[in-house]
Amino acid sequence: MTDPLSTARRDRPSPARSMMTSLPALLTMAGMVMLLTAALLRWQANGWGALVWLAAFLVMVLIRTPHSVRNRANIIVQSRRDSQETALLAGMFLTMMVLPLVHLSTGLFLFADYRLPGWITLIGAVLQIPFLWLFWRSHADLGRNWSPGLEVHLHHRLVTEGVYARIRHPMYAAIWISALTQPLLIQNWIAGSLVIPAFAAMWYLRVPREEALMRARFGAAYDAYADRSGRLWPKAQPHRTVSIGP
Ligand code: SAH
Repeated sequence: MTDPLSTARRDRPSPARSMMTSLPALLTMAGMVMLLTAALLRWQANGWGALVWLAAFLVMVLIRTPHSVRNRANIIVQSRRDSQETALLAGMFLTMMVLPLVHLSTGLFLFADYRLPGWITLIGAVLQIPFLWLFWRSHADLGRNWSPGLEVHLHHRLVTEGVYARIRHPMYAAIWISALTQPLLIQNWIAGSLVIPAFAAMWYLRVPREEALMRARFGAAYDAYADRSGRLWPKAQPHRTVSIGP
């Protein structure tokens, strides 16, 4: 039987290879900018909730991009990139970026619109603050150890401080807030709501594999970390009894 932990890139990508991988990334970026501009021009038809979603989306991209660029130089020693992982990432890309941007820039899915009261839209808007704060802090604390796929790099370090001190998945917690509030800001069954099942699938299928990867790499240190932290919510700390001497 082959080890599911396959050895992937052992060296820095060659210049030719990084050109090949960055060309689709550049084209995707150009497409995104065009859709974003068209969506902003349709702001009156889309409503203010969609405008808040667009602003949060832009900030999210600005937070992530420097980390994506810098971490491309990491030397990957273990990777779990398989068809399941590719399908989960594609599902997120489609429901969190492509469908909302296409709808807001063209009105393609107008037939699937619904309307919510203004105060619900307002709750969605306010929740973009904890989403973006946690998204920013988790990238800052994970630093070189962040990757979009399930990977371990040559100098991987187990991060257990900052927002990782008491929860193991603060970045996914941030994405949960974003996914659950997207249908409040983009009031459309296709462009707003489909991200919830897409991220639920990602959460339930990916987290056990990610934790197994971390356990295989860090052993007892990861077990101890998992004992004192929760996945999304801090664990209740055991009561300490203070004994006052004889
Ligand atoms: N699940 C985490 C991180 C998501 S990024 C969160 O929600 O905050 C995914 C990558 O981060 C994984 O491939 C893994 O290599 C890395 N990772 C996850 N937890 C880590 C930790 N505590 N320390 C170092 N790397 C970690």
